[in-house]
Amino acid sequence: MKNLLKSSTLIIVVLLLNSYKNDLPNSDLPNMDLHVHLNYEAQSLGNAAAVAYEKASARSKEMGVTFGIAEEFGTDNVRINDSLLLDRIALAKKNSLYLALQVSRRDWPNLFSKKTLNQVDYILADAMIFPNKDGKIIRIWVPNMPLGEPQEFMDLYVAHSLKVLAEPITIWANPTYLPDILISKYDELWTDARMKSLIDAAVKNKVAIEINSWFKLPDAKFIKMAKASGAHFTFGTNTHGTGAGDITWSINMAKECGLTKEDFFIPKRILLTK
Ligand SMILES: [Zn+2]
Repeated sequence: MKNLLKSSTLIIVVLLLNSYKNDLPNSDLPNMDLHVHLNYEAQSLGNAAAVAYEKASARSKEMGVTFGIAEEFGTDNVRINDSLLLDRIALAKKNSLYLALQVSRRDWPNLFSKKTLNQVDYILADAMIFPNKDGKIIRIWVPNMPLGEPQEFMDLYVAHSLKVLAEPITIWANPTYLPDILISKYDELWTDARMKSLIDAAVKNKVAIEINSWFKLPDAKFIKMAKASGAHFTFGTNTHGTGAGDITWSINMAKECGLTKEDFFIPKRILLTK
């Protein structure tokens, strides 16, 4: 009985692993999650990072999905930021992962040396922190932020997004995200004009648009409009730990919108295959 239990447990585990692996829809689109966060003490230079990168690498191989790790360093000290980033670049190279810097401070180009910034695979930014009309900094994913009147909020949000899209970034993450209390008004608030202004900015500045599996954003209308304008795309989960690499929603959305692999941004560095 014990053995039977053991072997049936093993079979279930194997079945689960296999079904997990085969979960991704079939396509020739890039199986890449370029927006993965790791759960570890990010500011440390110790062993925690090395272990986290090894685990991420193992999961990436198991899933057959290439991972890009997004790190968010940004103290006021250039030397500290540089040393953390260089350490992670080395870990990413060793573990067949891409390494991205995710930036949320608008003075980010001054927080690292040029030489170090040039070594990351790409730079990721969303537009989810900015001052409201009273000058108070709002983090729009945090509940109960003073957003103000919805149309006014949207105008400020679009203006801020345009600023971010004009920066030397590679990927616009979490595009068209709306705070919980406004989600039901997505179609009304994301007017064609607002969508078009952001898409045009992304195309002009060669910023790829993330198709985000976690938030299930942006919607098909936005993606089709962006493709028609010549935009490029990436897949991302923006997950911290579990869920990394599960880009099922993004792949299905891309297929629905008729995207092909030529529509995607692929980091230049060739990853080691171990
Ligand atoms: Zn992120």
